[in-house]
Amino acid sequence: MSWLDRLRSGLSKTRQQLSGTAGSLNEDVREAFTRMDSIEDLEYALIAADVGRAATEEIIEDIRKNGEGRLQDALMQALTLQLEPDARRAQFRQLGFSPDVSRSKVDPKGHVVMVIGVNGVGKTTTIAKLGQYYMERGQSVMFAAGDTFRAAAGTQLGVWGERLGVPVIQGVDGGDPAAVAFDAAGARKARGTDLLLVDTAGRLHNKHNLMEELKKVRRVIDKADPGEPAEVWLVLDAVTGQNGLQQAKKFHEATPLTGVIVTKLDGTAKGGILVPIVRELGVPIKFIGVGEQPGDLQPFDSREFVRALFDVELPQG
Ligand code: GDP
Repeated sequence: MSWLDRLRSGLSKTRQQLSGTAGSLNEDVREAFTRMDSIEDLEYALIAADVGRAATEEIIEDIRKNGEGRLQDALMQALTLQLEPDARRAQFRQLGFSPDVSRSKVDPKGHVVMVIGVNGVGKTTTIAKLGQYYMERGQSVMFAAGDTFRAAAGTQLGVWGERLGVPVIQGVDGGDPAAVAFDAAGARKARGTDLLLVDTAGRLHNKHNLMEELKKVRRVIDKADPGEPAEVWLVLDAVTGQNGLQQAKKFHEATPLTGVIVTKLDGTAKGGILVPIVRELGVPIKFIGVGEQPGDLQPFDSREFVRALFDVELPQG
C-alpha cells in the first residue's frame, strides 16, 4: 500500500467524525454565510475533532474573509494554513500551496536527536522507524537506549538495532540515563556517525523528576559534543488528544522542542489535535504515524494531510 493510501485509511475515523457532523460542505461559501446552518455545523464538527475553539474561530473567520467557491475547498485551504507555524504561513501565502513548502524539513540540523515523550506513546518504535527512514536515505545511524527505567525499553531497542543493523549504546537497567546519553554522544562523535537517536525515560519509578532528568540528559549531551542535541523531538500519541497537548507543554518548558512527532492517528477520530499542537507549541510537526509498520511513519506534509483527510486526490506533479 502506498503512503497516501495508508494516510487516507489512517485518517478515516477523523474523516467520518468531520463529515458526519459537518453537514453539507458542497455549498457555496457566500450562501453558507447567508444561511449560517452549514457554518454552525462546521464549527461544531471542528471542535469535536479536537481542533480547539480558538483555531476553529480563526478558521471560520479565514473562510469568511478569503474563501471562494465551495465551502470544502475554502475549509481545506484554511486548515492547511493552521497546520503551519506562523513563520511558515507567510511563505505559503507567497509561494502558494506547493509541496516544496508544505512538506516538513526533517533533515536534523546537527547529529544528535533527543527523543522524548511519556511511556506508551510509541517512542521506542518511532526511534526504530526513524532509524530505518534515515538509513534508507544513506545516513549512518546509532541508537542510545536511554530509557533505563523501563526495563523492556533497552531490550526492545536492542532487538530493533539488530534487525536494522544499527549499533545501540546500552546502559544498565535502573542506571543513570544521562550516563548512557553521554557515552553515546561521545561514541557518535568519535565514529563520525551521521545521526544519533537518543531514547529517554517516559516515566520514573523513584523520586527523580522526569523533567529534571531530561534537562540533565540534554546538558550532558552538550558536554560530550558541544552544540548537540541539535534537535529535541517530542513523540505524542494522537489518541490522548488535549491531555497529550497539556503534557507537551510541560515538556516544551523543560526541554525546548524543535519538532513534534504525532503517532497513532489511525486510532482516533480526533486527528484535528494537530492544529492546537502547532498553534500552542509553535513548533513544526516533523513526522506522523498511522500504524505499526515501518512505512507507517512519514514526514508530515500539511497539504497532503488535509487532502487525505477529505479523501481528495493530490494534483499530479
Ligand atoms: P513507548 O513506551 O513510548 O516506547 O512505546 P512503544 O514504542 O513501545 O509503542 C507502544 C505501542 O504503540 C506499540 O505496540 C507500537 O507498535 C504502537 N504504535 C506506535 N506507533 C503507532 C501508530 O502510529 N499507530 C498504531 N496503531 N500503533 C502505533
